[in-house]
Amino acid sequence: MTTICNNLKKIQENITIAAERSGRPAGAVQLIAVSKRMDSGKIHQAIACGQYIFGENYLQEAQQKLPILDDNLRWHFIGHLQSNKARLAVKLFDVIETVDRIKIARAIDQHAAALNRDLRILVQVNIGREKQKHGVLPEDTEELLESIRQTTRLTVSGLMGMPPWSKDPETSRKYFRELKELSVLLSKQELFSDNNNVELSMGMSSDYVVAIEEGATMVRVGTALFGRRE
Ligand SMILES: *Cc1c(COP(=O)(O)O)cnc(C)c1O
Repeated sequence: MTTICNNLKKIQENITIAAERSGRPAGAVQLIAVSKRMDSGKIHQAIACGQYIFGENYLQEAQQKLPILDDNLRWHFIGHLQSNKARLAVKLFDVIETVDRIKIARAIDQHAAALNRDLRILVQVNIGREKQKHGVLPEDTEELLESIRQTTRLTVSGLMGMPPWSKDPETSRKYFRELKELSVLLSKQELFSDNNNVELSMGMSSDYVVAIEEGATMVRVGTALFGRRE
């Protein structure tokens, strides 16, 4: 077995244990393999071990990599998106996790309509209120979701968030908890497409176990799976 296979197995075991600890089956948590700056050889290794959902941050890189890979894969866009790149993102990706303003939501919606398809999105929330991070502020999320209701092609599946960087995963816990609480509040106001099944994309290599304990339904893991990025 390759290192990537071993890593994948270990991560899946951790996911299962953490999901059970939060009273959910392992299947309630999806692993998004973050393949940014990883070559297609590494992606192929992960595919060979059964992984089929991947995340990419950079459109140019994705444009080069995605077409040469298997059609049955699912791709999540997890980078910052500019309106003038929305068309390309809609063409390449199955889920866009980083919608954080109405302008980008409208741009995605228009391009989805032009391509005659629906598109799943998550709203990115700046849970740590960090200046250098993208995302809508927690208190502005309700208004953004209200505005997104006017669109026609977007399936608003849930929220995505990244806590401030920390070496200690326990530091992330309160941010994950806040994002979960926000999602519950907003689902009670019926602001998602399926309010009984709201996705929460939170947790990366260093803190995905804590994120699952706090209710993550998607974890975005790169280095723990593929090793260090170049
Ligand atoms: C790079 C990245 C990840 C994965 O980070 P790792 O620490 O390598 O697991 C997850 N989410 C986003 C938004 C990223 O940019």
